[in-house]
Amino acid sequence: MTGRFANIIVDISHEKVDRPFQYKIPASMQGSLEVGMSVRIPFGLGNKLIKGYVMEITDIPNFDVTKLKEIDSVVEGGVSAKADSLRLAWWIKENYGSTMIAALKTVLPVKQKMKQVIKKTICSTVSSDEAFRLSEEFERKHQTAKARLMRELSKSDTLPQLLVTGKLGVTTQTIQSLEKAGYVTVTQESVYRNPVKMKEATQLKKQLSKEQEGIVTEIFEEFRMGLRDTYLLHGVTGSGKTEVYMELIERIIGEGKQAIVLIPEIALTYQTLFRFYQRFGDRVSVMNSKLSAGERSDQFERASRGEIDIMIGPRSALFTPFERLGLIIIDEEHEASYKSETMPKYHAREVADEICRMKGASLLLGSATPSLEAYYRAKQGDIRLFTLKNRLAGGELPKVYTVDLREELREGNRSIFSRKLQELLADRLSKGQQSMLFLNRRGYAGFVSCRACGHVMKCPHCDVSLSEHKNGKLICHYCGYETAQVSKCPTCGSKYILGFRAGTQQIEEQLLKYFPQARVLRMDADTTKNKDSYEQILSQFANEEADILVGTQMIVKGHDFPKVTLVGVLAADMSLHTGDYRAAERTFQLLTQAAGRAGRSTLPGEVVIQTYQPENYAVVHAANQDYEGFYEEEMAYRDLMLYPPAANMMAVLVLSADELTGIAHARELADGVKQCFAGERVAIIGPAAASIGRINDVYRHVFYIKHTRYDTLVSIKDMMEQEIEKKGWNSDTVQFDFNPMSAY
Ligand code: ADP
Ligand code: ZN
Ligand code: ZN
Repeated sequence: MTGRFANIIVDISHEKVDRPFQYKIPASMQGSLEVGMSVRIPFGLGNKLIKGYVMEITDIPNFDVTKLKEIDSVVEGGVSAKADSLRLAWWIKENYGSTMIAALKTVLPVKQKMKQVIKKTICSTVSSDEAFRLSEEFERKHQTAKARLMRELSKSDTLPQLLVTGKLGVTTQTIQSLEKAGYVTVTQESVYRNPVKMKEATQLKKQLSKEQEGIVTEIFEEFRMGLRDTYLLHGVTGSGKTEVYMELIERIIGEGKQAIVLIPEIALTYQTLFRFYQRFGDRVSVMNSKLSAGERSDQFERASRGEIDIMIGPRSALFTPFERLGLIIIDEEHEASYKSETMPKYHAREVADEICRMKGASLLLGSATPSLEAYYRAKQGDIRLFTLKNRLAGGELPKVYTVDLREELREGNRSIFSRKLQELLADRLSKGQQSMLFLNRRGYAGFVSCRACGHVMKCPHCDVSLSEHKNGKLICHYCGYETAQVSKCPTCGSKYILGFRAGTQQIEEQLLKYFPQARVLRMDADTTKNKDSYEQILSQFANEEADILVGTQMIVKGHDFPKVTLVGVLAADMSLHTGDYRAAERTFQLLTQAAGRAGRSTLPGEVVIQTYQPENYAVVHAANQDYEGFYEEEMAYRDLMLYPPAANMMAVLVLSADELTGIAHARELADGVKQCFAGERVAIIGPAAASIGRINDVYRHVFYIKHTRYDTLVSIKDMMEQEIEKKGWNSDTVQFDFNPMSAY
């Protein structure tokens, strides 16, 4: 690396990090100094020597060159873990366009040490057989919480109280009453805040099926030969992916390596974690948003000291400071939550790729409905694809009915529930089986559609749905195209062309009108405001304290309710028309997942998908559980419209306290790109007001840039960053989002 000056971040453990300081590179280090290296620099008035990290090497001086100090020396001992983090932060800053500080805050664990906490553990005082017998006895007495706890204690004689009261949904009163009865004791100790407390691995390994074994062997053989690669495991829910992950992890640990497992927060249920604890005991740790800063720093501390081999968690677990990382697994890799919503807007899949490159680890992606991005790379031969075709336990795939809501209207049924759904709901209630009703609702679904023929108002330029605004206009959130609201359907002339609105509360009310005897639970943003209410509702439903669970997409993820034999999707169209290019993909994923909720045990399942567009390819392929078919059609659309992964797309969001300044800045930036990259065939869409045009009195304008190459978009971003600096705008007012998950 060449350059005469180095921009250096002073060591965070000594100084508050706020910005890089520039130093001269002495002749002896020219050419050998590298970004990420640890150096000693004279700092402050006293020129005290402190450590710092090289962030950037450049030929552009920021100050009067004669006033710049020189780097003193390079700290020997190679690239430390910290330098690794800095390098990663730099990569994130470069690739996603954030400030260095924001990138550093993303990759570095909490810094300050927190004081220790007291840890409670529930210990069984009876034998494992006795515990099991007790669980059956409680079951018979309908004391389901006690039964649940004793059943878990029959598998493992100690359990952390946090898990018991949290994920297992057992109250402290219940624990106390079992303690009084002499079946359990509660112990306390001061430990690192490890949410896991299970000394011995207790689970007998499952004999892998031939398909599972083949996958594990192939990946592991490559690993042993020193090859590092990215793999995609495509398998329906229940096909044995988690079993593959665990076996592979075990073998990789056997090689002295460590593993990170990413699971979306919403799917980090007790059931999933428990399988890992049983298999790996306290060598596994978990990270989630409910942990305090202290608990997080403890986990990272234990990881960097090598006390654990596996870290499980959502996006942020990626930054676990393992010294011997060998494998990263991203389960449900298609999940939108793997993309950060705040700056830097990074995608865990991409950052994982980079971490694996830096640390010499392999990456395994898994999903029942792979993202177009991952599958596209697999098709290109860029990553290896493995498929698990069959469910191992949990019976056959459910029978799916697609109901045409236009026909329901024609035949005089104006209710939210089709006749088929009403019939099946009544049937389940009479049999004492459970149902789930799912309202496919996302944020601002303001699309306008015809109830008679299904026609949806779309942008003629971007082929995404138009959104209805209060002023009566229909607007495209990509390009800003506007048209007046229509009073008659342009296709069939019907006057039933309106905005689509229905809430979960409304559904609950309607449900009780049709089935007054039904016990209904509702789960949505309103009913899960409290910290634990989400777990509570789920455990109530699992305890069969309700017949029907009504909810938003929260209810379709990863939960296993054996008594659910009917799933109703009330309006598949809600997610088909969110006004962005991923709408069909998201719909396919949600419908496939929702369908996967029905008939998980021996009871056969049925699914009703209600829609105004039964012929839509996302609906058709989801009903047939046909991923390949969906992929082909969706990819054709992305190719045609140059949407990712066929091309790359960057959103540029301009924030401003003043509306006119905001739009003017957005236009200036967009024009600058047009001029600078005139020969480059960049497509610029917008600028336009964002779909949420103002938040907290800050105006939001957005434009999109499409180009086949990601690195060209990065250059465009760099150019804009320089523009912003030159013009003296605050850098926080412009945000970049590469291949955004939804429209702004
Ligand atoms: P996925 O992660 O794809 O949803 P899981 O790994 O959770 O699938 O497996 C689904 C069910 O099948 C689980 O109950 C699991 O214990 C069981 N299972 C998985 N692999 C095997 C196997 N080889 N033999 C027996 N049961 C298995
Ligand atoms: Zn119509
Ligand atoms: Zn448009």
